Amino acid sequence: MQRIIDLHQHSHYSRATGKEATVEGMYKWSKIKGIDIIGTGDFTHPQWFAELKEKLQPAESGLFKLRDDIASRIDLEVHESCRNRDIRFILTVEISTIYSKNGKVRKIHQCIVVPSFEAASDIIAQLGQIGNLKADGRPILGLDSKRLLEITIKSNPDNLFFPAHIWTPWFGLFGSKSGFDSLEEAFEELTPDIKAYETGLSSDPRMNYRLSQLDGLTILSNSDAHSPQKLGREATIIDSDLSYEDIIDAIKTNDHRIVGTIEFFPEEGKYHYDGHRACLVRFSPEETKKHQGLCPKCHKPLVVGVENRIDELADRPADYMPDQPKKVQYIIPLPEILAEINKTRSTTSRKVLEHYDQVNKLFGNEFDVLRTVPLNVFNEHGFTTLAEAMDRLRRQDVILEPGYDGVYGVIKVFGESTKDIKNPPQLSLF
Ligand SMILES: [Zn+2]
Ligand SMILES: [Zn+2]
Repeated sequence: MQRIIDLHQHSHYSRATGKEATVEGMYKWSKIKGIDIIGTGDFTHPQWFAELKEKLQPAESGLFKLRDDIASRIDLEVHESCRNRDIRFILTVEISTIYSKNGKVRKIHQCIVVPSFEAASDIIAQLGQIGNLKADGRPILGLDSKRLLEITIKSNPDNLFFPAHIWTPWFGLFGSKSGFDSLEEAFEELTPDIKAYETGLSSDPRMNYRLSQLDGLTILSNSDAHSPQKLGREATIIDSDLSYEDIIDAIKTNDHRIVGTIEFFPEEGKYHYDGHRACLVRFSPEETKKHQGLCPKCHKPLVVGVENRIDELADRPADYMPDQPKKVQYIIPLPEILAEINKTRSTTSRKVLEHYDQVNKLFGNEFDVLRTVPLNVFNEHGFTTLAEAMDRLRRQDVILEPGYDGVYGVIKVFGESTKDIKNPPQLSLF
């Protein structure tokens, strides 16, 4: 049975997170979004760890569920159309390491997944000697990522370690500002112990296939949500048994049990293209090359985005595809689509929230709405614009304005006017 798994998110003990990032909030929004297996995040934080121990109970091997008395209370806050889904938790944490290697300061984020509270306790005990785990749900440690990998796998061979959002300029393993050019440079003789990596919102599998050094590794997509409303922004589809061992074995072998990923259009990421925000200059890597990397307005170096950085490290052409690529399904978060339909910029306006709730109630969880609910079902309920939007999304007939220099990209289904839905512009740049 195919399940949707999201391994990377944060609790309210991490910086810049919402108050709703509680165990209850994660459970509730996993149902609303349609996620089957959700990471706890932040297990190294002592208060969060205590909360997890109190509120979760063992389910299948290595997986946990919300305590029955809490679950039945939260279920009442969710529409019946979304209730019928078992949510499982898996223990996870993201660690930020800052260290110097080969004469450069490195800032790398990585995630650790463990099979039990005992396994988590052992990681906590070892990392607690290195730095402060109380200050932040995502602790910052002065520790070499290679050493963190070593600690993780020596502590328990069933633990999983994977580099997070590998292309983020400042915190990605391959980031242009403080990352590395290769896995070997970072992990040396332990490189074979890297079995998976997270693409992050600004890159997709197609872009990552261009690096032969990533061949054979499992591509994971996760939300990195700082509030439960953003859970499942991206996710991985897995067809394994419902047990920690089978899930992790699938990830470590990248076999048929890894079905594929649910992805943002990478253009939506805020460092997809190159450019200067202040000069209103947005360039593709080719255009940047033509201008020798300099801004035509202010003549200073352009801020280099993810697409360009991938081009720099890639040893394959942009249209390269492996023989058997995993399935990729692109999505736009439903609140963004509803905001466009309602002609508002805010995804949290009252109108959009009401509309979201109504769609949720009638058609089920967000992933079902985006991926599988038949178009005629929307039409039968009079949701014809939504049906048209879902048709376009599923055919990937959308308008992409790539993000650059810290400006989020804009992905639209209809373009400027929903009246003009029969003749939308295919691609609008500046
Ligand atoms: Zn991170
Ligand atoms: Zn400029």
